[in-house]
Amino acid sequence: QGRCYLVATPIGNLEDITYRAIRILQEVDIVACEDTRNTVKLLNHYDIKAKLMSFHQHNEQMRSDYFCELIKEGKKIAIVSDAGMPGISDPGTTMVQKCIQNEIIVEVIPGPSAAISALVISGLDTSDFYFAGFLSMNKKRRKEQFEGLRFLESTIILYEAPHKIRNTLLDIKENLGEKNIAIAREMTKIHEEIFRGSISRAIDHFQQKNPRGEFVIVIEGHKKTISEELEWENISIEEHLAYYL
Ligand code: SAM
Repeated sequence: QGRCYLVATPIGNLEDITYRAIRILQEVDIVACEDTRNTVKLLNHYDIKAKLMSFHQHNEQMRSDYFCELIKEGKKIAIVSDAGMPGISDPGTTMVQKCIQNEIIVEVIPGPSAAISALVISGLDTSDFYFAGFLSMNKKRRKEQFEGLRFLESTIILYEAPHKIRNTLLDIKENLGEKNIAIAREMTKIHEEIFRGSISRAIDHFQQKNPRGEFVIVIEGHKKTISEELEWENISIEEHLAYYL
């Protein structure tokens, strides 16, 4: 019976792949990938000979329909992205939705994702987190996003491109105030670096205009002040003081 597999692939170190992922990539009829040059490196490393087809943000809709037809004919298709988990700031979601509509079986082959890796290594609270992906470059939309994040008590996870990291850090400071953050750079690769400290220190640290590599920014959630707590509980300062005095 045909089916679709969402296969997680390494975010840097090629060893970070599961036995099951390797078996599935060997067995499927088609490996749908973002950039064939990238996926070929992984497949060659494990001596996997697979038929590759491109599957990226510009052809995701059309290709998803096409793949669903193939799966209905009994084919098995694996979806991979350039790194990490497909569907997380990467193509994949449309395919899953179309599979559901078409009553096609979808299986996930779990593995690394930069967001979760950065969160756990950040040292910040992992019990409640919010993944915001890449912030919009549209000024108005970006402002709205920051407004949504401002009083969020969850730890926030952001993806960012290297040439935008400095600007984004400046924006975080301006919109969210001084906070503790962690910046996970080049995780699992030779130049892995985890910065932990205040936003101001991070701005100093990444002074270089074009810091190289890949980055995830993890930001401490908002800590409610006493007056916010009271407002939240709908208690006036007088009532609060009367209780404690
Ligand atoms: N689907 C991927 C996942 O599950 O992590 C994310 C794809 S998204 C297009 C790429 C972004 O992920 C990068 O811009 C960076 O923010 C983050 N990223 C990917 N690999 C990374 C790594 N090794 N170290 C730090 N960040 C990484």
